[in-house]
Amino acid sequence: MNHTAAAFEDAYGRSPEGVWHAPGRVNLIGEHTDYNDGLVLPFALPRGVSVAAARRDDGVLELRSLQAAASGCRVRIDDLAPGAVDGWAVYPAGVAWALREHGVGGASLLVDSDLPQGAGLSSSAALECATALALCDLYGVEPDRAELARLAQRAENEFAGVPCGIMDQSASLLCTAGHALLLDCRSGLSAQVPLPLGEDLSLLVVDTRAAHALTGGEYAARRAECEQAARLLGVDSLRDVTDLPSALESLRAARRPRSFLRRSGGPDAAVLQRRVQHVVTENHRVEAVVGLLRAGALAEVGAILTACHLSLRDQFEVSWPEADTAVDAALRAGARGGRMVGGGFGGSIIVLTAADRLDAVRDSITAAYAERGWAAPAFLDAVPSAGARRLS
Ligand code: ADP
Ligand code: MG
Repeated sequence: MNHTAAAFEDAYGRSPEGVWHAPGRVNLIGEHTDYNDGLVLPFALPRGVSVAAARRDDGVLELRSLQAAASGCRVRIDDLAPGAVDGWAVYPAGVAWALREHGVGGASLLVDSDLPQGAGLSSSAALECATALALCDLYGVEPDRAELARLAQRAENEFAGVPCGIMDQSASLLCTAGHALLLDCRSGLSAQVPLPLGEDLSLLVVDTRAAHALTGGEYAARRAECEQAARLLGVDSLRDVTDLPSALESLRAARRPRSFLRRSGGPDAAVLQRRVQHVVTENHRVEAVVGLLRAGALAEVGAILTACHLSLRDQFEVSWPEADTAVDAALRAGARGGRMVGGGFGGSIIVLTAADRLDAVRDSITAAYAERGWAAPAFLDAVPSAGARRLS
């Protein structure tokens, strides 16, 4: 029997009606573009969150997790409201709350996962999406997957209070094996882009073991800076900036001491210029990577990943020491390229390398961490994998 199904039996004393799985994701490129109406290019990981589940007729939602054994949750579906649940249960309970109006009722859920939490690999979205598929299947709800992604995002935004974009849930639900997902965060449209690794190249995810706190102030500050820059430039979002030199010049003009910026006590115009420089060039880097992948030239993508890292480090200022050190160490060992992934200030990096250099890359990063007395990083093979599905 499936391990998660067996754990369900142990926990609830009966068999589950099924087991559903949703993967974590890593974003190949397109960072801090999602909330600027831009482009992202995630792919699904072989690891993720599984949920074994069964309906119950007492209108209660019961949630347990093998990764959080001490803190289960029991709540009546009718009582679900933002603020009514806390801890890890906010994510699955938020999904049940958002699905309630579609006729979803009580259920027992058992969660199991092989995805590190808080490593920037989107365990929260995987948890939401596995829960969403389970509840939809149990109650005969058939939303399309793009709609389900929006519903899971709403659960995270409104119920868990995390201001995330649509990328994580879309990746978990829409990705297919051997492909990345090009997602246009303005139109909501997506396309599959081939990402075959072959025998020669490897993608490696390195969990830097520096915890991230996306709910923290830096993420909100970057969003606010982007919104302010868009306002000053007279565009709806930074996606609309087509002429980068003119945009930077406009912001430079706003730099005079008696300018709006200084009077309002907002960030310095030079800061806004750096943010705009990153977001605008990042959308172009996504397009360049998509072009190379469609041409079957994955190896050439490495240099663009590294360019992205430098932009996130120097222009957007969201990288962290463990990420910079890991990227540098990978490049020294001959990797094709690498970059931090996720919102920043902790989490993981991704490295593209010739497969025969994989061991050297890992050793180089491990040695660089040991030299600085940091906890050893964790390595994950990043094989582009299938999206969320029913397992049994
Ligand atoms: P990320 O999505 O990058 O992993 P987040 O902070 O957004 O980081 O989400 C991590 C949170 O998701 C955890 O703190 C926990 O509340 C919840 N979570 C993820 N996986 C599990 C799991 N297997 N069991 C219980 N909670 C989980
Ligand atoms: Mg998350």
